Parts: sequence; C-alpha cells; structure tokens
Amino acid sequence: MVERCPRCRYTFEREEGFFLGAYVINLAITQLALGVFIAGGIIATLPDPPALQLTLIGITVAVGVPLVAYPFSKTLWTAIDMVMHPEFRRTQTDGEP
Ligand SMILES: [Zn+2]
Repeated sequence: MVERCPRCRYTFEREEGFFLGAYVINLAITQLALGVFIAGGIIATLPDPPALQLTLIGITVAVGVPLVAYPFSKTLWTAIDMVMHPEFRRTQTDGEP
C-alpha cells in the first residue's frame, strides 16, 4: 500500500497501530464467514454431518478469508477514518507537495 494518496496526499497510516481497526474488521469478516460456513455445512448435511471434511474446509476458510479480505478491510477502515476525522483530510492537502 502506498504511503499517501497520489491524488489528494492523504496519509493512510498516520501513526503506529493505525490499522488495528482494519485488523478488527478483518477478524469480524473472518468470524462471520466461518460461522456461516459451519452452520450452513452442518445444516446442509444433516442428519450425519461429515466432521472431518467440514473441519478441513473450515480451516481453509479460516486461513483464506482473512488473506483475501485484508486489503478490503484496510480500505474500509481508511474510509471510516476519513468520515470520523475529516480534519486530517483537509489539513494534509494544504501546502504540502
Ligand atoms: Zn485521495
């Protein structure tokens, strides 16, 4: 990810730990996906759910979803931050190259 927006010069990571919010969003997305998969997998295969297959696919979901969703989580967190702190957007574009 670039340090600043090439168009408006908005600094994406203003301080250490700034993307902790993106981590939390990513964790929520992963937990939601895993919960939907586990519940859906069990309901779809009742009355005899295949525990080993569901576990293996569940591990794949638990590892794959956060890898795919992390860039989108960062974008979403940046958008939330820009809505919560519009002053950073304005001040950073004034007088900077
Ligand atoms: Zn921009």
